Amino acid sequence: MYLKTFGCQMNDADSSKIKNLMSNMNIDTTSDPKDADIILLNTCSIRWKAEHKVYSMLGTFKDIKKARPDIIIGVGGCVAQQEQDEMFRKVPHLDIVFGTHNVHRLPEMISRVQAERCKVEETNFFDRPEPLVYPAPEEDGVRAFVNIIRGCNNYCTYCIVPYVRGREASRSSAEIVDEVKSLAGCGVKEVTLLGQNVNSYGNDLGGDIGFPGLLKKVADVEGITRLRFTTSHPKDLSDGLIEAFGEIENLANHLHLPVQSGSDKVLAAMKRGYTAASYMKNVEKLRKVRPDIAISTDMIVGFPGEEDSDFQKTLALMKEVVYDSAFSFKYSVRPGTAAAKLQDAVPDDLKSERLASLQSLQKKHSIVRNEAEEGTVQMVLVEGVGRKHSSFLTGRTSGNKVVNFAGADEFVGQIVPVKITGSTANALKGEVLHLN
Ligand code: SF4
Repeated sequence: MYLKTFGCQMNDADSSKIKNLMSNMNIDTTSDPKDADIILLNTCSIRWKAEHKVYSMLGTFKDIKKARPDIIIGVGGCVAQQEQDEMFRKVPHLDIVFGTHNVHRLPEMISRVQAERCKVEETNFFDRPEPLVYPAPEEDGVRAFVNIIRGCNNYCTYCIVPYVRGREASRSSAEIVDEVKSLAGCGVKEVTLLGQNVNSYGNDLGGDIGFPGLLKKVADVEGITRLRFTTSHPKDLSDGLIEAFGEIENLANHLHLPVQSGSDKVLAAMKRGYTAASYMKNVEKLRKVRPDIAISTDMIVGFPGEEDSDFQKTLALMKEVVYDSAFSFKYSVRPGTAAAKLQDAVPDDLKSERLASLQSLQKKHSIVRNEAEEGTVQMVLVEGVGRKHSSFLTGRTSGNKVVNFAGADEFVGQIVPVKITGSTANALKGEVLHLN
C-alpha cells in the first residue's frame, strides 16, 4: 500500500490508524505508488492549495491504473467528505471514497472492491466516535497520537472542519487511558492528545471528566514521560487547564494557542469568541504558572474586511506575546463556509505583503526565543538520525523545539540531557551530556 497524508496532525493520526488496519490485513506499505496494489490519499481541505494538490496527484495515477486495472485507488479525509461521490465523476479511475468517520470501515471497502470490482463510497457521519482502532506508534516508535474528541461545534466563519468532521464527540476517558496504556506497553514515551478543540473534551459526555481531569489520568500512565495536546481553542482555555501546567510534571512545556488575528473586529467576523485582551490575559496567567513555556500560534492575514489598522493590531499582539513559532497563512475562501459569503476584499498582493511582514517579525521573535535557550540543559526525546549527517541526531525539547546534536544512534528513543550551544530561527544545536 502507498499512503499519502495531507494536512494536519488529525490526518496523521487517521493515517496511523489506516496503517494499523492494513497491517492487520497483512498489507505492507511502500514509498512508491508504482509498486503498490492499493493507493490511498488521506486528504485535507482546510486550504484550497491542499485540495488542488489532491486532484493533481490523483491525475498522475491514471496511467498506473491503465497499466494495472486491478490496483485499488482510494481517497479519504476532508476532501472525500466534502466531495463525496462527486469525486468519481471528476476522477473516473478512483475506486473508493471514504469519509472522516469511516476510516475503520476501510478493510470492508477494500474487500468489496476486490470481490465485486465496483466503486464504493462511505461518507456517512456517526454520532459516537467510531470503534476503537489503536493507532500504530510513529515510525520512531516512541511517539504516538491519540484522538480524544472528534469534530467541532464552533463554526469559525473561515473553517470547513465542522462540515467535514461533524459535531463534537468525545471518547470515554477509560477507553483513552486504555489506549495510552497499550501504547506505553509498546514502548511509546510521548503521547499527543488530539482534537479540533481538546478544551471541549467531555462536554458531550455529561458525568465524565473534563479535559484537565483527562490530562491528569493520562499523565499518570506508567511509562509516559511526556504528554502533549493540540489544539486548544483560546475561548475555552480554562483556569483548570492553566493550573494543570503547574500541577502535571510530565505535561510538555509548550502550548499551541491559535490566535488568528489581533484585531477584535476581525476576531468577531471570524466568530472566534474571544478578544485580543482576553487572549493576552490567558497568556499572562499561563506564564505565571510556567514562566518559560513555549507558545506557538496560527495566524490568518487578509481576512475579508481586514484593514491596515487591524493588521497593525495583529503585529502589536505578536510583539506583546513574542511567540516561539507561528504558522501564518493568507486567507483563502473555502466554499461552503460562512466567510465565503463575504467579499474577499483584500487584494492578493496586499495579503502577501502583510504575510511577509508578519513572518519577518516572527522570525526575529523565534531567534530571540531560541537564543534564550542557549546555555540551558534541555531533556530531549531523540527521534532519529539527522537527515543531512548520519553522525547527528535529532530530537525535541519539552518546548517542542528541534535540537540537533552529535551522538550515536543508540540514543534514539531515549530522553537525554542536551546542553544547548547554539540556535537559529528554526532549531537548536547542542551537546549531549554524559548519562549517569
Ligand atoms: S475551532 Fe474553529 S478553526 Fe478550529 S476546527 Fe473548529 S471551526 Fe475550525
